[in-house]
This record gives sequence, C-alpha cells and structure tokens, in this order.
Amino acid sequence: MFSIKNHKWKNWSETVMSNPESIRHPKNLQEIIALVGTCRQSGKRIRVVGAGHSFTPLVATGEVLVSLDRLSGIDCVDRKNNLVTVWAGTTLKDLGKLLFQEGYAMENLGDINVQTIAGAISTGTHGTGIDFGSISTQVTMLTIITASGELMEISADKNAAFFHAALVSLGMLGIIVKVQLRVIPAHQLYCETSKMSLDVCLERLEEMKHNRHFEFFYFPYTGTVQVKQMNSTGDNRLQDRKASVFNKLVMENGLFWVMSKMCLMQPRLTKSVSHLSAFGIPNSVEAGDSHTIYATPRLVKFYEMEYSIPQECMADALRDVQHVLEKKKFHVHFPIECRYVKGDDIWLSPAYRRDSAYIAVHMFKGMEFQPYFDAMEEVFQYYDGRPHWGKMHTMTAERLKKAYPKYPDFVGVRNQLDSDGMFMNDYLKRLF
Ligand SMILES: Cc1cc2nc3c(=O)[nH]c(=O)nc-3n(C[C@H](O)[C@H](O)[C@H](O)COP(=O)(O)OP(=O)(O)OC[C@H]3O[C@@H](n4cnc5c(N)ncnc54)[C@H](O)[C@@H]3O)c2cc1C
Repeated sequence: MFSIKNHKWKNWSETVMSNPESIRHPKNLQEIIALVGTCRQSGKRIRVVGAGHSFTPLVATGEVLVSLDRLSGIDCVDRKNNLVTVWAGTTLKDLGKLLFQEGYAMENLGDINVQTIAGAISTGTHGTGIDFGSISTQVTMLTIITASGELMEISADKNAAFFHAALVSLGMLGIIVKVQLRVIPAHQLYCETSKMSLDVCLERLEEMKHNRHFEFFYFPYTGTVQVKQMNSTGDNRLQDRKASVFNKLVMENGLFWVMSKMCLMQPRLTKSVSHLSAFGIPNSVEAGDSHTIYATPRLVKFYEMEYSIPQECMADALRDVQHVLEKKKFHVHFPIECRYVKGDDIWLSPAYRRDSAYIAVHMFKGMEFQPYFDAMEEVFQYYDGRPHWGKMHTMTAERLKKAYPKYPDFVGVRNQLDSDGMFMNDYLKRLF
C-alpha cells in the first residue's frame, strides 16, 4: 500500500513521492461529482490513486489526489449473465473473497492481490496463461465520472466509442467508480512448483505453455529456473493444501530479504545469492480455491520493469537477456519472471492484437538498477516490446506512438472527454 505522512505521498516501492495539496477520500458518488465540479471551477488537476503499487509516477501530483478506498465491495450481481459489478476501490484480495461468497471467481489474476480493481485494470495488470488476457479483458462495463461531472456508463453497447480506450486508461479519462466483471464459477486450482534447467524449460515451452497458467523464473547466472504450472482440479475437489507459511514468509520473504540486504552491502555477492536461491527452489504442490492460490506475499521491496513481446519470441529474448546479463556482469540476484498473456483489442494494452510473452526484471530497493534495466529494455525493444504502464520504462511519446497503433485514437478520446487535461499530471503530459 502507499503511505501518506504529513501530506507527503509515497508509492509502495518508494520510487515516487509527491506533495498533494489535498488528499480526498469521497464516500459516495455525489461527493466525487461535487469534487470534480469544484476542481473544474478552480482549474485544479486531479489524480486518482488505487493502492499505489505502480512503480511509475502515474499518480504523482501537487494538486488533488483522490482515493476511492471508501468505495469498496459488490454493488450488484447478475446471475443470469454471470456479471458482477464492484465499486472501484475494492482490492483484488477483498474481491476474491466476496466473489467466492457468491459462488464466483475471476478467471485469472496476477501474483499479488493488494491492488484495487480500478488501479489494476488502468495499467493493464495481468496474470499468466495463453488463454487469458489481462484483467481488463474481464471487464464488461465501466462507470466513470468525467471531467464535466457526468456519470457515464461505458461498455460494448453504451458509449461504445470509448470502450476500448477506457479499459486501460491510466486514469486519464475520468474517475472510474464501478467496474462490471465477467466472472466464472468458483473453482479450485492445483499449483505445481518445480526446479528445471533453463535449457530444458526453453525446449519445453511450447508444451508447458498449454497449462491453464504457466510461468517461470530464471535465476541469473545459474542456468536454473523455477517453473509454476497451475491447472484446474475440475470436479475433483482437493483437500486444501497450502504451501507452508514457512516457505512463503520465511524462505521467500524473510530469508530473501536478509540475503538481499547482504547484496546491497556487497553487490559482488549477488551471483552466489542467486545460486543459493536457485538451490533452494522447492518441488511443491499447492491446491485450494482459486482466489487463494494466485497471489504470493511480497514483503521484500524492489524496483521492476516489465515488457510484453510477441509470444513466439520468449525463448530468443530470454537467451538474449541471459547473454547480456552475463556479459555485462550486472549485480542482480532477483529472478527474472516470464509469463504469457493472450492478445486483446484494448488500445493501450501492451498485448494489443498480439499474443504476448511478458518478461519482468527486478532489483532490490536501494541497489543500482538503471544500467541493468537500460540493457534489458534494449533487448525488449529489439523484439518490438511494449512496456507495462505500471512498471519502470524509459519510453517517450514518440516511441509509444510507434509501439501502440491506437495511440492517436486514445488521445482523441481523451481530448473529447477531458479537453482541459483535468486528469493529467506532468509525467503523463510528457507521454501523451
Ligand atoms: C509487488 C508488486 C507486484 C505486482 N505484480 C503484478 C502482476 O503480477 N501483474 C501485473 O500486471 N502487474 C503487477 N504489478 C503492477 C500493478 O499491478 C499495477 O501497477 C497496478 O496498476 C497497481 O494497482 P493500484 O491499485 O496500486 O493502482 P495505482 O498504482 O495506485 O494506480 C495505477 C493507475 O490506475 C489509476 N487509477 C486508480 N484508481 C482509479 C480510478 N478509480 N479511476 C481512474 N483511474 C484510477 C491511477 O490514476 C494510475 O494511473 C505489481 C506491482 C507490485 C508493486
């Protein structure tokens, strides 16, 4: 979660800090509409914050910062069509529990669940699985409050011209207040984690990517990966089998934090630490209701960059990543995360009209990351990469225009809905 102390706002990774003139927590739609009206009259700009889990300065503002943390929970359930409408400030963790109580689940999720639903979809947050798009592809309608104070429903049928722009919009089109989601019946997942050599993993990619969910983590300098394969248990309800709390909290977080601190003090230890972490990859099985399986607690803070590239380039790109990393000898011990996302039709989605592989690189907070990220970004851009909007990148407006064919159309919709740029900040002005 983000933090606010003495009117100073910080995101989770503490890569972005700002001093909003005021921080507002409206309790209902009337309060939001009134706030937008006041800001319009006084020429103030607004940024909306979710859980502050983006690494980029998307919500940085010296003007008005709005949090919808008081607008949370389910608004209504349409059982005939399997649609559930939720308030925009609902966290994915709460959403999972609430849907489960209604007998439903999301079809896919990312690897943490503390984001808000509006924040997650606004940057194209995704999980993994070749048959699943980002969370935005599960959205069937958005209700937003525009710069003119209008409460507008946007879907494939209502205000349809805005729909593909609004599904990933970085908060630039207005304040999302409700999100209608297509949901599926509650189900259980079975997750197998195993150690494998990088060579075998890359040879078997075409086979393994057909798991319902498949991802792998490459441990720098080791030739070893951790593979996660997740599948539905179908009608066979398994007894809940949790990965041990010891593994998740002590090994994956506590011990990793201690080793990361050692790397911060002695960066040349990173290679050994990566080897030690790869050595400790468990062969384990976890099963349970889907909303309890996707997410892992992330207590060790880091910086992150993630790019989407064409799906078929995963193996070649990862070989290049490995080659550059070893040649330049970057001090890095965080594993490199590799996932799959189905292509979609959302204008600012990194997976726009292309089935995608996503590769994410991380660096422990406080360690030098820029040379490493720059080198990796060069690799990703060679493969026509598009950056995750919530993670670090150095793309400029010119380059974004080339990477996102619908960039001009998005800007057209933004000009139509917010011609004065009420929902922009300096960072977004540079990019759009
Ligand atoms: C530890 C960690 C793990 C992560 N794991 C993943 C992962 O597995 N997959 C992945 O794809 N990403 C991942 N991310 C990135 C993260 O999912 C995105 O950055 C996401 O957007 C954060 O959601 P948030 O609720 O914190 O939104 P914020 O970061 O607060 O805001 C993100 C954007 O949403 C906008 N916004 C928020 N609420 C509203 C609203 N009501 N109306 C309009 N605009 C709004 C903001 O203005 C901003 O532009 C991870 C990040 C961290 C720190």
